[in-house]
Amino acid sequence: MNIDKSEKLFEVAKKYIPGGVNSPVRAFKSVGGNPIFMSKGHDSKLIDVDGNEYIDYIGSWGPHLFGHNPPFIKEALIKAIESGTSFGAPTEIEIEMAILLRELVPSMEMVRMVNSGTEATMSAIRVARGFTGREKFIKFEGCYHGHADHFLIKAGSGALTLGVPTSPGVTKGNAADTLLADYNDIDSIKKLVASNKGEIAAIIIEPIAGNMGVVKASDEFMKELRNICDEEGIVLIFDEVMTGFRVAKGGAQEIFGIKPDLSTFGKIIGGGLPVGAFGGKKEIMEKIAPSGPVYQAGTLSGNPLAMAAGLAALSHIKNDPSVYTILEEKSKFLADGFADNLKRLGKRFAMNRIGSMMCMFFTEEPVTDFKSALKSDTELYGKFFHAMLDRGVYLAPAQFEALFVSTAHSTDDLENTIKAHYESLKEII
Ligand SMILES: *Cc1c(COP(=O)(O)O)cnc(C)c1O
Repeated sequence: MNIDKSEKLFEVAKKYIPGGVNSPVRAFKSVGGNPIFMSKGHDSKLIDVDGNEYIDYIGSWGPHLFGHNPPFIKEALIKAIESGTSFGAPTEIEIEMAILLRELVPSMEMVRMVNSGTEATMSAIRVARGFTGREKFIKFEGCYHGHADHFLIKAGSGALTLGVPTSPGVTKGNAADTLLADYNDIDSIKKLVASNKGEIAAIIIEPIAGNMGVVKASDEFMKELRNICDEEGIVLIFDEVMTGFRVAKGGAQEIFGIKPDLSTFGKIIGGGLPVGAFGGKKEIMEKIAPSGPVYQAGTLSGNPLAMAAGLAALSHIKNDPSVYTILEEKSKFLADGFADNLKRLGKRFAMNRIGSMMCMFFTEEPVTDFKSALKSDTELYGKFFHAMLDRGVYLAPAQFEALFVSTAHSTDDLENTIKAHYESLKEII
């Protein structure tokens, strides 16, 4: 595979952009080698600057539920751009977005649009604090909620593979109000709640974690979490930036049958443009300015182009009930193929899948939380990643990320991926 142009661009990029990338997971730091520069995406494919084609399973880290550049999103964007790019004033499409969101995710009584997942989670914690008058909040080890200071304590995703569990630049004061619990371990919550009685504003969780690899919380754990929050007056926040519209039309909360007090969204909700959203119970959301005292704002929030792309994606989800059946069929086909390969090779690597999110860990023990996820042999993952890349399959360049299947992956794509998976594993183990 010729990647000369990519290599050259990376050399230049490093001079002007820290690490040559605008988000750390894009670099190949945890798998070795240099990142590939992309020039074009269509359907399930990415094409790099040297003309190589890849079957893509990153999907821009989650947004591309329908593959790259689906015609209905492209058309909505072209139409929107004819009317202008940003007005800094309310538009009708923002109401349409809010109503559709409420329809798909019934707990979203009110919503505020923002520009990224990070903004959504950061603002959700702020309003939970403003609403309860309390300062502390609980997060789980290995969960990632974007890069706001108070979340960068034992965070997942890039923060995990880069080995910066607590980033420099995050002050002790900021970290002090973040309490850490163990995923899927209700006793760790009970202890924290008991020792911080009346001081906890919120518990934030990825109900299906996608940033320590893919790990689902148990039903029992989620039920107890809801009960504890009700008893203690704690705001329960589901961070559905990844799972929203990915695992089901109504997100992970639909799968668990549990209503959070607040939810955060990103990724798919923007149809490939930079969008985030947070919302939930009216009595909490009404605390936000200008209806309430909790300040939250954004020059480009609810941007007409971003709303057009997002609304096109969500409308497609609403109007085509087969989306999640198709995703499940394709994802199951792929996971079954992987499982078959492992059997043939006599390996029992843990594989977790929830709908079109999946992750293979290089450990033979089941992965149910952060500690068990860390048992994965990340060096072996690095070799696997490169073996797959050489065969034209583009996976996340880090172990603790999800593989995403889109509706655009064809049977050919999936079969070729299964074949590449077999050959790659055979090569490296
Ligand atoms: C991606 C992600 C975020 C951060 O979203 P950005 O748009 O990258 O700021 C937050 N929470 C979860 C669960 C995510 O997967």
